[in-house]
Parts: sequence; C-alpha cells; structure tokens
Amino acid sequence: MTFNSQRRVLLAKPRGYCAGVDRAVQAVEIALEKYGAPIYVRKQIVHNVHVVKTLEERGAIFVEETEEVPEGAIVVFSAHGVAPVVHEEAKGLSLRTIDATCPLVTKVHKEAVRFAKDDYDILLIGHEGHEEVIGTTGEAPDHIHLVDGPDGVAGVKVRDPEKVAWLSQTTLSVDETIATVEKLRERFPKLMDPPSDDICYATQNRQIAVKEIAALAQLVIVVGSTNSSNSVRLVEVAKEHGADNAYLVDYAEHIDESWLEGVTTVGVTSGASVPDELVQDVLAWLAERGFGDVEEVESVPESMRFALPHELRKDLRITP
Ligand code: SF4
Repeated sequence: MTFNSQRRVLLAKPRGYCAGVDRAVQAVEIALEKYGAPIYVRKQIVHNVHVVKTLEERGAIFVEETEEVPEGAIVVFSAHGVAPVVHEEAKGLSLRTIDATCPLVTKVHKEAVRFAKDDYDILLIGHEGHEEVIGTTGEAPDHIHLVDGPDGVAGVKVRDPEKVAWLSQTTLSVDETIATVEKLRERFPKLMDPPSDDICYATQNRQIAVKEIAALAQLVIVVGSTNSSNSVRLVEVAKEHGADNAYLVDYAEHIDESWLEGVTTVGVTSGASVPDELVQDVLAWLAERGFGDVEEVESVPESMRFALPHELRKDLRITP
C-alpha cells in the first residue's frame, strides 16, 4: 500500500455498527413502529449518546431499573444482556419483554452456566460495573470472580486451583486480555479456556483496523461515547500502536483544532455502537481544515448479521 505525504485521512474499515448493535437499535425502532410509543428500554440500548437521544425523540423511554417500567408495558433489554433475575422482575410486573441481548453476549452467559454446572470457579475478565459484566455474573453469582486486567490476578481467590476456568467481557482489548490470561495461567496451570473467543468479532476487527491506521497516523480520532467499552479500547490501542495522540469524541464539534498542529495524517475510526453519519460529520469537519483527502483502509472484511429478537420475529411473522 502506498500513501502520499500530503494532509490526508486514513479511515478504518471495519468501523462503527456491529451486528449486535444494529439488531438492538432496529429492535427498538421496529417496536416503536409496531406497538407505538412509549417503548421502555432498560439501560442504554447501546452505549452511544446520539443513538439514545435519537430513540428518545422517537418515543423510547430509557430506565435504569425494571421496577421503573409501568406494569404491563413493553420493555426492551439492551444489547449488553441482563441477569436472569431481571427476567424474573419483568415477569413479576407482567411486562412484555423484547430481549435485544447480543447473541455473542448470550453465548458467554451460556458458557458461564455450563462451567458453573460443572462446579468450576469462573474468572471473568472484565471491567467492574459494566452492564455486560453484571449480566454475565448474574448467571452464576456464586461461581464467578471478576478479574479487572493483569493487575487483578494476584488478588484472585478460588476454592480449588485445579478447577478454574476463564471467560471475558466481549469488548476488551485483545492484547491486554491475552496478558491477563497468561498471568492467570501462571497461577493456575490447569486453567480452562472458553470453548471459543469471548471477545467478539467486531471488537477484534475494529482493533485490527485501528492498529493499521495508527501505525501511519500522528493523530487518531475515535468516534464514540465515554461509556462505550470497545470505543475506549480503540483509543488505547491506537496510542499503543503508533499514534502520537488519540482522542474519543461523540461529535465532530468536540474535536479541538489544536490536535491538528503539526499533523499530516489523521486516522479516523468509530466504536461498534456509532452510526456512520457521525463519522461522516468528522470527515466533513476535517475536510474544512485541509484534510479532504480520505483513503479507506480495509483490514478485515465483515459481513455478520443477526436475526431480530424472537419476540419481534414472532409478532412480525418472520420465519427464522
Ligand atoms: Fe455483540 Fe460485539 Fe457488538 Fe457487543 S460489540 S453488541 S458483543 S457484536
């Protein structure tokens, strides 16, 4: 690949919406169309302020807890997944639920249930307080211990060091997770691996793509929200792989012009919960400042799609 040395933008591909986010956002949009407003959504459907604001304008009401939803109403569970107790709470309130949990998060839940059934201590690598971690932990609270990165390994306590397995949040840094697992294996040589990768394809692909542009750019702009785990990881990965600076912005107007000082190549990417219109706004902002030459750098082809949640498919009479 050859690049000229003028001011330019390298645009990562893949970037933006993953199949799980696309499905979750569509679930709320279709529910609003089919059943009418309001549609309640427990937690942010995906971690992006623009997406949440847009759905709110269309009649979605976001709540933190199930008990805030009026009895008998429709509630959508977010892409990050919920603990079984949340399904029970919804049942108790006679809510109609639409579960938009990403199938790749559900896969991790199932792995947790299986390891717990075999009485393993499960070391869940993830970030404390993240909704996905709370949901996964809820599947087997007596068996799961959270490990928040390599520094958390020393403090792990298990019942039987010979019977330990690890799982992870889907949106972590691949490199940091490998480092954490290596440290865990030093302590627990018989550590069982998950049956397949827990860090999802979208997180992995966006990290591969940002590494490629970061190696060639002085500045990387990641479009995404601060509570989006995979977006925050893209900033870290960009800095670790060659960019002098990398910043996270929700909107083009949050970019600081001083970031462009002395910069000839800007890398641009976006987290898995970010609609591409926000990236196009960033490209327009950069073009106004002399960075109109945009080259898309495709690192990994991506074509994953997920079917809508089954509750909607049933009502829309879509056969699987
Ligand atoms: Fe699913 Fe991965 Fe997207 Fe999360 S980032 S919704 S796990 S595909």
